[in-house]
Amino acid sequence: MDLQSSIPAYDVQGSSCVYELAQNTELSWVMILPEFSAEINFLISAYGDFMDYKRFKIQAKVPALVALPDSDLYSSTGATKAHPFNYYARQDVIDKLKNIAKEYSETFPKALGLVFNDMSLPWGGLFDIGEEVLCPDDKPCKYWVAPHRSHRDGYNVDLKTNGLTAGQLIQIKSIAEKQGASVLDEGNHYHLNFKSKSDKDYDEYNVCY
Ligand SMILES: [Zn+2]
Repeated sequence: MDLQSSIPAYDVQGSSCVYELAQNTELSWVMILPEFSAEINFLISAYGDFMDYKRFKIQAKVPALVALPDSDLYSSTGATKAHPFNYYARQDVIDKLKNIAKEYSETFPKALGLVFNDMSLPWGGLFDIGEEVLCPDDKPCKYWVAPHRSHRDGYNVDLKTNGLTAGQLIQIKSIAEKQGASVLDEGNHYHLNFKSKSDKDYDEYNVCY
């Protein structure tokens, strides 16, 4: 799958037809954009003293997210069929990840490189709206309950910790904190939050769900 075709496209349909319009009538719509990124296609028709329609697109996206470049010092994992591009972030966060990987490799020159797991999608937004699945109590899980709720605008990165020694874990945490990350231990990974502590959304981004 190429990057463009990984972006969902939605056609807005239905009730935007307006009838019996006088000429030069001004119309306005309010649209609440979705939590997930998508290219949204509109068709708006109007009827009256004239008849016209307009098609246009809106990109619901977080601008300026960039891909984690390839490196000998780290790798990325966690891509799925639904999300083949799971390694995007803000440029400043990418730079900090490079710094973390570099200092880690200097501290542990014989260790394997760091492995970054899920970051953000190319256009950001809710990371994974998922399929409706059966929960343990056999009731359908709500569609919009999502993992990685905070991984939506390039500030959050999961760093795989499986197989690392206690000493390596302590060092990684310290190195990441020096780069401005808060570090949440999620068992098999560290959830790194690069949002500024003074940001009003800081606490919300400090969780990995
Ligand atoms: Zn996370």
